Amino acid sequence: MSFKISCQGATSVKTFVDFLWHKLTPAVSDTIWGKMAPKIAGDMRATCPAFNGNRANLEKHVLISLAENENFDDYWEYIHNPESFFRNYIQRHIERYCSEQKSNKIKTFLKISVDDIKNAILSAIHESTAISKDKSSTASGWLDLFCDHLGSKLNFPRKDLVSIEHQEIKDIEFLKEAMSEALDPAMIKVEQECLSKPVEDMVHEIQKMLSEHLCGCWNQCPFCGAICTNTIPNHDGDHSVPFHRPQAVRGWKWIKTDHFMIDYCTSLVASDCYFILNDGLKTPHKTYRQAGGEYATWSITPDTSTQTYWKWFVCHFRKELEEKYQKKFTGRGEIPHAWTNITKQNVLDDLEK
Ligand SMILES: [Zn+2]
Ligand SMILES: [Zn+2]
Repeated sequence: MSFKISCQGATSVKTFVDFLWHKLTPAVSDTIWGKMAPKIAGDMRATCPAFNGNRANLEKHVLISLAENENFDDYWEYIHNPESFFRNYIQRHIERYCSEQKSNKIKTFLKISVDDIKNAILSAIHESTAISKDKSSTASGWLDLFCDHLGSKLNFPRKDLVSIEHQEIKDIEFLKEAMSEALDPAMIKVEQECLSKPVEDMVHEIQKMLSEHLCGCWNQCPFCGAICTNTIPNHDGDHSVPFHRPQAVRGWKWIKTDHFMIDYCTSLVASDCYFILNDGLKTPHKTYRQAGGEYATWSITPDTSTQTYWKWFVCHFRKELEEKYQKKFTGRGEIPHAWTNITKQNVLDDLEK
């Protein structure tokens, strides 16, 4: 007689445990996978120099990599579509990180998450059993305690378990053993499942997280295309940037010629030159804001300090710029000889300052 009862007890515990793990496994898998993207984004921010500061820091790294690769098409994209260029730059870094790290870091993060959840479940099993024994609780009571203990560590809704809560569990200690025994194989399964998931699925999510930290204003100087360095999108006040570029970078030319303008915005605003927009309206550079529109939203103050970067760029890609914009570096747009002596190393050193 007692043998029969024990057998029935064992069967019902087994059904209960099977069902519970059937529900727990996907929840564990989702929870662990959900933690991966923030973990990778966090690690990239901590370990990749391009991502461990604000957007100005990222831009420095972008400029360095552009100079290193010397690809004019990349420069063109950066100059004319900076926002999408940055997005792609971040994305390429994430893809590289994920493919290089697939064998080690991602595996380590996964292992840590699996161990955390495993410990949380194990302690939930033990604690729920200990309390249930004292109170001689029902299956429903045990499940309440179990879900409470897991709490925020696992997104596991108690309501999914209503179909087993009325099951009769006589031997709560046996339930604990059965649950604990199933833990290891379940966790191995979850880990393998996560490892086989395509990391590419996460790239977009990680990119969004990194971009949020590296956001800022994307407005470009209407003359030279330098990107506003304000860290707040849609910020109040004027757009501004510490360093402008020679206006030829954005294709500006001297009136009635096809000669590039190699002057910097910061020197032009102190000059007696004026500019003409498509509507034919003449505006002195000194009072450039009068041109209205985006011109009115920029603060460009006279300044003679310049970076070597764009001087090197103009010399290095002279032919490409002339072809692309159909203008020439001649006449008032003649490139100063001193610019041609600037080396790529000078430029990279200058950026590192
Ligand atoms: Zn400018
Ligand atoms: Zn701005």
